Amino acid sequence: MEKKSKMAWENYTQQDKDELFAYSERYRQFISNNKTERECVISMIEEAKKHGYVDAEEYIKNSTPLKAGDKIYANYNDKTLIMFCIGKEDMEKGMNLLGAHIDSPRLDLKPNPLYEDHNLAMLKTHYYGGVKKYQWVAMPLALHGVVVKKDGTVVNIEIGEDPQDPVLGISDLLIHLAAEQMDKKLKDAIKGEDLNICLGTLPLDTEEKDKKEKVKANILKLLNDKYGICEEDFFSSELQVVPAGMARDYGVDRSMIIGYGQDDRSCSYASFEAQLEVTNPQKTTVCVLVDKEEIGSVGASGMHSKFFENTIAEILGLQDGYSDIKLRRTLAHSKMLSSDVTVGYDPNFPSAVEEKNTAYFGKGVVFMRYTGSRGKSGSNESNAEYVAYLRNIMDDNNVIWQTGELGRIDLGGGGTIAYILAQYGMDVIDCGVPVHSMHAPWEITSKVDLYEMRKAYVAFLKYA
Ligand code: MN
Ligand code: MN
Repeated sequence: MEKKSKMAWENYTQQDKDELFAYSERYRQFISNNKTERECVISMIEEAKKHGYVDAEEYIKNSTPLKAGDKIYANYNDKTLIMFCIGKEDMEKGMNLLGAHIDSPRLDLKPNPLYEDHNLAMLKTHYYGGVKKYQWVAMPLALHGVVVKKDGTVVNIEIGEDPQDPVLGISDLLIHLAAEQMDKKLKDAIKGEDLNICLGTLPLDTEEKDKKEKVKANILKLLNDKYGICEEDFFSSELQVVPAGMARDYGVDRSMIIGYGQDDRSCSYASFEAQLEVTNPQKTTVCVLVDKEEIGSVGASGMHSKFFENTIAEILGLQDGYSDIKLRRTLAHSKMLSSDVTVGYDPNFPSAVEEKNTAYFGKGVVFMRYTGSRGKSGSNESNAEYVAYLRNIMDDNNVIWQTGELGRIDLGGGGTIAYILAQYGMDVIDCGVPVHSMHAPWEITSKVDLYEMRKAYVAFLKYA
């Protein structure tokens, strides 16, 4: 196919290039400053308000009718965000939706994490999502999240991001003594229970003669002084351990970005900007940013939850009234780009993909008709008519796009939120950017693809 032979960069004017680098920089800042789903939701709401978005609760509380052009958002426990810009056309005729996830693989603290071992204060973790455990040792890590005290006070914690902050980490075994470890399979070299964070080594300054675990006591004192929390408060916390530091430009030519959580904040951020950019649309535009995709889209804030359907029901109720059939028609007539990252061809691992069908850095936004694994199992396969509809929009708007597939047949695979929305009878396709080192602490994307993805999302939302 001709699309595969062209490098997007070669088609750009100077203005395109300027816009591309400006967008990449906004994105780089976003993923550097937002490393948890809560941080994403809170900062996005702050920005959305500046663009005229209002909390849906305000409308619901006062039964304020919604009219074309209105912009509202629904926030679920600071973990999932849905934004709407109401279209001129009846919602029953369908909405244009962008959906992505804002959770990323990481290490969560266990419910009872803190202990002392031979004068070292340590934290137990339980990894979240698909991680190669050996990648998380011997590197600077940061702690992000919230602790909720018994009285309901929410304490925000962030240690390891400010250059003046200390960082945390997990040690690896020295090579000199690693004979047994090196003989193990990669998946067994570092086990889940080995991912323990080192927090400190200094004992508490105390008069108490037989005070035990003085290093742990000192850490608790420091945490209490700074955050007003006690050991039991860990049980009602959501604390996540992530790579410390900013995302960076990558490559001598600065054509790529290396950063944490690009799966799937690359797509989330592009969806968010596209949603803000499109105003007064013909069809109602929706941006859905969900949590828990990396662990199966479960829970109250995952895509399988009813929050999405409930919110659409509320929105219909604020227009010409809710009815069950109207809700079903609205969902069934909608079109969606389920935005998630995919594998990019990597010269270090060429055999993981099939070269004629994989995605490549620099060739634009990727459309994937299906994901799944081993015979398309578990995939949402888009129908040919919808794919043709999208080709038309992309070509009309000079969006540079490519096709992709998630790796060589029978090697593995993966899923996204696409199949969940498709259950409504909605047209859904997987769409995103290629990534190197997906799910590693530091993931890599191409700025060209990020830029084309944003263009694709704007064109899709506007189309009616
Ligand atoms: Mn993903
Ligand atoms: Mn993932």
